[in-house]
Amino acid sequence: MPTRNDIRNVAIVAHVDHGKTTLVDAMLKQAGAFAAHQQLDDRMMDSNDLEREKGITILAKNTAVKYHPKDGGAPITINIIDTPGHADFGGEVERGLSMVDAVVLLVDASEGPLPQTRFVLRKALTARLPVILCINKTDRPDSRIDEVINETYDLFLDLDADEDQIEFPIVYACARDGVASLTKPENGTVPADSTSLEPFFSTLLEHVPAPGYDEDAPLQAHVTNLDADNFLGRIALLRVEQGELRKGQTVAWIKRDGSIQNVRISELLMTEALTRKPAEVAGPGDICAVAGIGEIMIGETLADPENPIALPLITVDEPAISMT
Ligand code: GDP
Repeated sequence: MPTRNDIRNVAIVAHVDHGKTTLVDAMLKQAGAFAAHQQLDDRMMDSNDLEREKGITILAKNTAVKYHPKDGGAPITINIIDTPGHADFGGEVERGLSMVDAVVLLVDASEGPLPQTRFVLRKALTARLPVILCINKTDRPDSRIDEVINETYDLFLDLDADEDQIEFPIVYACARDGVASLTKPENGTVPADSTSLEPFFSTLLEHVPAPGYDEDAPLQAHVTNLDADNFLGRIALLRVEQGELRKGQTVAWIKRDGSIQNVRISELLMTEALTRKPAEVAGPGDICAVAGIGEIMIGETLADPENPIALPLITVDEPAISMT
């Protein structure tokens, strides 16, 4: 099966304050080729030129880090999907996880895995997603790295992880300083054998599977989330599973009740860094957004009008009663 080696789709699962925002910001800054500069420009454009851009540059729910390998190889887009850090009532966790091929479990080196991450980790293990453990804030004077790793193994056992899942790679990080290592640092220190997040990027590229697809399959794109924009109206967030989705193309919208309506893709958007930009085409494995389909719902499929095949509706558990 061919794979999109230029894409990795991953979710970061973390308890609030364990450093997810700091880590993603550092990834954006270090991704290469003036990434930090571009991002700054984007943010300025958001506030100043929103009118001119007609709302097309809006804050995305996912972050796209365009990583430029140090060996000069082709850039790789790492899509980072936000999942809520705890149980929720709307299936947002399942929907986020349905877009990715692996998860990073980000754990504070002092606090260890906390109950609110347990719910999301359980979902990830049930979805058979590979996990990468990232121990963050190794610099904290009260860090207790070995104990936190043992607590994480206990959590995996408790959640009935299988043998493959429990053999997760471990990366040690000080996201605040933008440094990561595969070698365990002393408690209370920043990883010393590295000066960047390079070891974290390499681990992602190695352990997050590149999206696979069938070359001959007709278009299938899955609606995984919704958004709204003043100018564009309802926006559907999609993962393209097979085929290509093009701006201006007419596609079959397969609704929840099984009925099919042909609709035109009036606006196609893809995320760059933190914002959505107009795009011409999205291929298999890409995460994109389309505007202009008024009543589109989560779980529905956009497909080839000649050969419309629905993807499975995303199943959602009964609402969780307790977060612990
Ligand atoms: P989020 O809620 O998971 O997005 O967490 P943030 O990225 O907002 O970080 C929470 C706090 O932890 C902030 O005050 C960060 O500056 C701090 N922080 C993040 N990474 C590190 C780290 O590696 N070491 C230390 N000491 N603090 C960190």
